Amino acid sequence: MPVCLSFLYHSDMTLPSHLRAVFDEQFRASRAQIDTPIEERRRRLDLLERLLTDNAEALAAAVDADFGGRGAALTDIADMFVLRATFAELKRNLVHWSKPKRVRTPIYLQPSTARIERQALGVVGIIGPWNYPLQLTLGPAATALAAGNRVMVKPSELTPGTSALLAKLVKKYFPESEMTVVQGGAEEAAAFAALPFDHLFFTGSTAVGRKVAESAARNLTPVTLELGGKSPCIVDVSCEDLRDAALKIAHGKLLNGGQTCIAPDYLVLPRHMEAAFVDAYRGAIAQMFPQVEGNPDYAAIVNEHHQARLKGLLDDAVALDAKVMDVGPAATGTTDASRRMRPVLVLDVRPDMRIMDEEIFGPVLPVVLYDQIDEVLVRINAGPRPLALYWFGEDTARRDKVLRGTVSGGVTINDTLLHVAHERLPFGGVGESGQGAYHGEAGFLRFTHQKSVLVQSRWAQGGLLYPPYGARFERI
Ligand code: NAD
Repeated sequence: MPVCLSFLYHSDMTLPSHLRAVFDEQFRASRAQIDTPIEERRRRLDLLERLLTDNAEALAAAVDADFGGRGAALTDIADMFVLRATFAELKRNLVHWSKPKRVRTPIYLQPSTARIERQALGVVGIIGPWNYPLQLTLGPAATALAAGNRVMVKPSELTPGTSALLAKLVKKYFPESEMTVVQGGAEEAAAFAALPFDHLFFTGSTAVGRKVAESAARNLTPVTLELGGKSPCIVDVSCEDLRDAALKIAHGKLLNGGQTCIAPDYLVLPRHMEAAFVDAYRGAIAQMFPQVEGNPDYAAIVNEHHQARLKGLLDDAVALDAKVMDVGPAATGTTDASRRMRPVLVLDVRPDMRIMDEEIFGPVLPVVLYDQIDEVLVRINAGPRPLALYWFGEDTARRDKVLRGTVSGGVTINDTLLHVAHERLPFGGVGESGQGAYHGEAGFLRFTHQKSVLVQSRWAQGGLLYPPYGARFERI
């Protein structure tokens, strides 16, 4: 019997017809094949992995062109490496994760048996950002495919070459009913978010995340929101190796030109360590990036709008008496037509500056000095919950006080970023930095319905649970 789909759309939405047609096709396919066999899921995963490996060079070149400077080695580390880990983990665990899970039955329901079956949700929509345009679209897509879903991906319009290439390649490797890429800007994205997906997975800004949540709510579509915010990086008084800490902080801050959702957004430093840290940070940057101009390992700012936004944040801070310090390696004097922005520290910052309110997303690190850790915790807890938090030091009691005294999406101790690279740790935000987590089994379950099944035994007599209740109580 043909499925009537028109009732599924918001009455006030005028969806671009091609979007609607693709969704309809995937919807029908997902309802015609509810139980996608493991071999078929594995085949789709292999296909997506092959798409990546066969076209790694072309994809890296597209990212480089979109950024106006982001070398292939950087894309290999920042996007491909993480994707390879995701594929390996999915393939290793696919059979185990897909199996029904037996649960113990309480005495009053025995001798029945019970299990939780893991079923694909159906059609999953994925909206991605531009900063890691491969990892943050294909990672969730691979996980959704592994769980047996159909997938529609809407990558960012700010990396148009990469999005166009992804669309072309996915069309070449996959039938539209299994996986497809939809291109377009905010308008197309809004229409995409209005589709009645079985799950909508969004990675992007908190402001757009709100719109996505609103739109999905009208269809009662469950959402995962992977958002942004300001992630603090705390150096404790017990930090013994400031040079090592500065290297790791600079790495986390400057990877991808600072355009990383979990980059340390601002530094919180014991007052007496300021001069030593400035020195160590400058040294760490010189070690990793002997030059900024034309360096393929140092990503350019993605476009002029974001370049101007960053300049605006610095101008605002300077107007309020902050000091902006260039901590990059010696300038080479060569002209660099790209938008590579030299790394800076911002000293003498105050809470009322925009730089301490808005997510920075660039190679700019404000330094907040403190005397007592309690004042730091009060300030963190007064703001939106961060996506990530970093802590550097040796004293485990002081470390645990910060861990227990704050709520953030994730934490890395004595390094930065690495919790995102651990496939067995759920990755996600909390509060304004997001809801729902993925990676590993957490990701597989994100795109899975856990169906409760109770199987009654033929020996069961009902007894206890059936009326007449009065008579039962009398017997008791
Ligand atoms: P963005 O929110 O501007 O855009 C993200 C996507 O949303 C794009 O594909 C865009 O086309 C789409 N979009 C725009 N308007 C929409 C609408 N009305 N409805 C539905 N979709 C719409 O974010 P961005 O600038 O691409 O990415 C940067 C932000 O993403 C930062 O805040 C960063 O912290 C965050 N981020 C978070 C994570 C994470 O895993 N938590 C990862 C990367 C980036």
